[in-house]
Amino acid sequence: MKAHDGMYIGGQWRPARGPDTIAVVNPADEQVIAHVPAGTADDVDDAVRAAREALPGWAATPPAERAARIAALRDVLVVRADEIAETVTAELGAPLQLSQTVHAGVPIMVAGSYAELAASYSFEEKTGNSTVLLEPVGVVGAITPWNYPLHQVVAKVAPALAAGCTVVLKPAEDTPLTAQLFAEAVDEAGLPAGVFNLVTGLGPVAGQALAAHEDVDLVSFTGSTAVGRQIGATAGGAVKRVALELGGKSANVILPSADLAKAVGVGIANVMSNSGQTCSAWTRMLVHKDQYDEAVALARAAVAKYVPGERIGPLVSAKQQQRVRGYIEKGVAEGARLVAGGPEAPRETGYYVSPTVFADVTPEMTIAQEEIFGPVVSLIKYEDEDDALRIANGTVYGLAGAVWAADAAEAVAFARRMDTGQVDINGGRFNPLAPFGGYKQSGVGRELGPHGLSEYLQTKSLQF
Ligand code: NAD
Repeated sequence: MKAHDGMYIGGQWRPARGPDTIAVVNPADEQVIAHVPAGTADDVDDAVRAAREALPGWAATPPAERAARIAALRDVLVVRADEIAETVTAELGAPLQLSQTVHAGVPIMVAGSYAELAASYSFEEKTGNSTVLLEPVGVVGAITPWNYPLHQVVAKVAPALAAGCTVVLKPAEDTPLTAQLFAEAVDEAGLPAGVFNLVTGLGPVAGQALAAHEDVDLVSFTGSTAVGRQIGATAGGAVKRVALELGGKSANVILPSADLAKAVGVGIANVMSNSGQTCSAWTRMLVHKDQYDEAVALARAAVAKYVPGERIGPLVSAKQQQRVRGYIEKGVAEGARLVAGGPEAPRETGYYVSPTVFADVTPEMTIAQEEIFGPVVSLIKYEDEDDALRIANGTVYGLAGAVWAADAAEAVAFARRMDTGQVDINGGRFNPLAPFGGYKQSGVGRELGPHGLSEYLQTKSLQF
């Protein structure tokens, strides 16, 4: 059976229980490129059963051996990196270079980090007269979005496997082909049957069935705050563990001493990358009043490099394109000034949105409060540092952010006062070991590195 036709359950590709399918569309040319099965509650049930059966064996597998399997999985991802990049480009629309470096490259890095962590992590601790065993939580239901189709899968599956958990994955309906490739890689890497299972399907059907399944011990969800709230409530009702990686509205705070041109340029690049479909994107640029006009001119020049169809891809779907264009119209209607871009589609075919910069945005405007998830940056003026802090912290979100200053210590002093889970200091690099996750309504729990691993562990204390 070809992977696209089936579900990967219990170490095999097998037909879905129902006849329904989901069409996968290339957002750059609007052509249907594949159909995948729309799984039902019955498929989810089969997959959870397979994961439950595989749990005792995998949990008892020595960590060094689990590490070797994760390393083998990483190696398959390396061999298949070009295919992964092409698949992400086909179903997400990301420019090929971005797919190669980020969409294929980052998951390889993260899988590698968990192969190392599984081998070196101490699954046993001593405290006083006790030995604390760090044991796998059990069967994990992983629900992922489309914006980083492989990264979000690996950021859940790799630590879960390292911990000794087994997994059922329900990927986003817009990007199931990358998830199917991942399942093929798991198979090729020789993971025991049932340790990883894939059910493609619609969120309110397969996703909901997985989140509500009584034999799932932990639900790890990445996606919108609206769905996350619902999943959190379901998990709470069943008294089961939950990890939620949700939306963001992060601030890029440019202090007066900073290198303004660099801070604006990197800030624009940060939002435009992946067509603005990044939960941690710095979509609010905060600039001191005396430097504001210069920053606006710099932002206008920086965004001009992002030509739709060349350096910047489309949005994932017609629905997202409509949603983002609606936000741009709202920004204009609420009195923000368009400096670049606008609501008109820049190309006739494909779900493109014009890279857009707004000036004269005030902190309470809709475009400064709600997550847009598109290539839209809002420049907000601040009076002094306290004002900048009030604006930076003035949303329901707290996922990420950036601070720029002449020296790192000044930026760090500001970052300490921010209510957010990650802050890049003067353009700091991505670190696959640093915990990633939100304050406030951006989520519960952390991914990546040892903090990400501990989400999948529970403790048992033995007293002597
Ligand atoms: P979404 O919440 O609609 O979907 C995410 C996943 O949940 C998909 O697999 C979907 O099928 C599933 N789902 C939908 N309804 C469900 C339900 N009722 N029960 C169970 N599962 C359900 O979000 P999206 O549109 O795919 O992704 C965009 C959003 O995700 C943005 O808000 C973005 O900020 C957020 N996001 C957050 C992070 C993070 O790490 N914090 C990362 C990426 C995306």
